[in-house]
Amino acid sequence: SFETMMEFSEFKTNADGLLPVVVQHYKTQEVLMVAYMNEEAFYMTVKTGKMTYFSRSRQSLWVKGETSGHFQYVKSLTIDCDKDTLLAKVDQVGVACHTGNPTCFFQPIVGTDYDETNPLQVFESVYATIQNRREHPKEGSYTNYLFDKGIDKILKKVGEEATEIIIAAKNPNPEEIKYEMADFLYHAMVLMVERGISWDDIVRELADR
Ligand code: AMP
Ligand code: ZN
Ligand code: ZN
Ligand code: ZN
Repeated sequence: SFETMMEFSEFKTNADGLLPVVVQHYKTQEVLMVAYMNEEAFYMTVKTGKMTYFSRSRQSLWVKGETSGHFQYVKSLTIDCDKDTLLAKVDQVGVACHTGNPTCFFQPIVGTDYDETNPLQVFESVYATIQNRREHPKEGSYTNYLFDKGIDKILKKVGEEATEIIIAAKNPNPEEIKYEMADFLYHAMVLMVERGISWDDIVRELADR
């Protein structure tokens, strides 16, 4: 249980009595998610040390992690200059996002923010784009062409691209392998989305071996 230096009534909530909360990892400073608290959620959070929100979709209190086990333990809570937004630094168990992504912010809109030292970020971003295409088909999209053709077409492409890696590897110029590996990985990700496998599933499987 924490001691609070300010009461909820001093905050400037929105018309629904809610306060947006920016959630950051206390060690890496990675922005994990944004959610809302009402008064009860705020005091529950302060009392239990576990991030508790108000779910706008369910219209009820929501202890983050209550079903997934992905709890967020409070390290600090800070209010911004005009007292309308909370910043929470947390110790995140597992991943913040219900999609299995470490952070909820992985869908590029303008520009890209790849950390080139972390190749998995690029995979997660391409994966998210593929998922997005499936949910919101785009005219002329090759990814949608693959989904429309179905699993047999996707599997055929995965097989073809794997074969092309083998052919490229026999070529003394290593550039070719790069292109073919990229093609293969893209098609493998289409297969992953089709079958509902996330990068997190694969990383965990590898880590457990
Ligand atoms: P959890 O609190 O992690 O047990 O997840 C319970 C439910 O809350 C999920 O099934 C989602 O509907 C929702 N949820 C969990 N994490 C998030 C998030 N980061 N952003 C939005 N909704 C979430
Ligand atoms: Zn300011
Ligand atoms: Zn503000
Ligand atoms: Zn999310």
